[in-house]
Amino acid sequence: MNIKKIRKDFPFFKNNPGLVYLDNAATTQKPKEVINNLKDFYERKNSNIHRGLYKLSEETTENYENSRGGVANFINVKAEEIIFTSGTTNSLNSLSRNIGNIIPPGKTEILISEMEHHSNILPWQRLAENKSLKLKFFKTTKDFKLDLEDLKKKLSKKTAILSFNHISNTLGTINPIKEITSMGKEKGAICIVDAAQSIGHKKIDIKKIGCDFLAFSSHKMLGPLGSGVLYGKKELLGKMNPFDLGGGMVKDVFELNYIPKKIPSKFEGGTPNIVGALGTKVAIEYIKKIGLEEIERQEKKLMKHTLEGLKEIENIKIYNPGIKDSGGIVSFNLKNLHAHDVASLLDDYKIAIRAGHHCTIPLLRSLKINSTARGSFYFYNTLEEVNKFVQALKEINQKYGK
Ligand code: PMP
Repeated sequence: MNIKKIRKDFPFFKNNPGLVYLDNAATTQKPKEVINNLKDFYERKNSNIHRGLYKLSEETTENYENSRGGVANFINVKAEEIIFTSGTTNSLNSLSRNIGNIIPPGKTEILISEMEHHSNILPWQRLAENKSLKLKFFKTTKDFKLDLEDLKKKLSKKTAILSFNHISNTLGTINPIKEITSMGKEKGAICIVDAAQSIGHKKIDIKKIGCDFLAFSSHKMLGPLGSGVLYGKKELLGKMNPFDLGGGMVKDVFELNYIPKKIPSKFEGGTPNIVGALGTKVAIEYIKKIGLEEIERQEKKLMKHTLEGLKEIENIKIYNPGIKDSGGIVSFNLKNLHAHDVASLLDDYKIAIRAGHHCTIPLLRSLKINSTARGSFYFYNTLEEVNKFVQALKEINQKYGK
């Protein structure tokens, strides 16, 4: 992988010389292909979908549907199983607001892990309250992995929904989603994967995983902000009520009722984020060009180097399961220094990381901490950047830590 050449595809790096960007779990940078696609659409093709009977609108409709096809192909599902949303949070909220009516009788529990992002907790709290279901959590082990023994204990025929993340945005842990899904399926649970941190980092083949729903955000995989996806199994989507009611999602309307369109249109009421959907496909094409295996290899290389470097720092506490089980995310704390101070001190070195609870307060509470500093990588990061990061931390630790 020629990183120097690849970085030239990203105007952000040219416009921010010397900045070490290690906040990729929050959002990734965008290649010029994605930026140009947005610009080209607004400058030349701006028109709405589905409604126009003129060429431009027909072309936009076709491109929008092609993007759906591109996403479907990327995760090995049917195009009609792809719903465009505004991101992972929106995907999980829409799903949780409407999944209640497909829960079979006798199923009374929702099971999620302690390692979830708030976006995969709060929507289930609301569903539990509205449908009188019990929300349960399975634990994290001391070595920062999901506790599958605890999952086994808590999973039962009563479990209606089992929802869990693929890669933890705080710990970097790659979770065995295929294994967890088959455990859930054995008990007849609807299995939902939060793939916000894995999409664009690892190959995702839904046919192999076997999950019922999967959510992700485009902006964490080189795509535009404010756009994302909810995948849903055709049979389940067919039974579910529409998400937002209004224009674009109906076949016919009467004074007192309506007939919705088929899937996926019935889930996309209103004018969608058309440029977001188009840009998602462009991002996918870019990722395919680089190759997911190459991306994974590069992230492993960066993480290995990072973990080795960080371990040399005196009194550092690292919250990560180790290179074998980790994506490109590492959380840590330096003794006697608040994570926020670590992040601001690194900013003085022009190194951008994130600090705080990373929207995983229940996880941090179980670890008995209230914040971590978090570095997160993507394939365009370099070993030199890792060296700068580790060296800066060593200096900060020397000066203020211990
Ligand atoms: N789940 C996980 C694991 C995440 O990392 C994030 C983003 N930090 C989200 C959900 C929410 O994603 P978004 O803000 O794009 O909706």
